Amino acid sequence: MCPYCESKNYVKNGKVNGKQTYLCKDCGKRFVMNREKNAYNNIRREEALKLYREGLSLRKISKLTNIPHTTINYWVRKYT
Ligand SMILES: [Zn+2]
Repeated sequence: MCPYCESKNYVKNGKVNGKQTYLCKDCGKRFVMNREKNAYNNIRREEALKLYREGLSLRKISKLTNIPHTTINYWVRKYT
């Protein structure tokens, strides 16, 4: 799944340095499958959702965390 928004809506996007890359159709990001990156993004997601629960707007959370608000919106719908 996409490490940025956890969407399964992604397609193969060619190879870079021999690694298969993917393009997420939901958030538009390119990524390679990487466990460490997924763990890192889980932490970022928890931070963003914590801010959301504290009452911050998606726009403000996006600014603070540097995560696209479309991604945060996806997390909010899925996890809250
Ligand atoms: Zn994505």
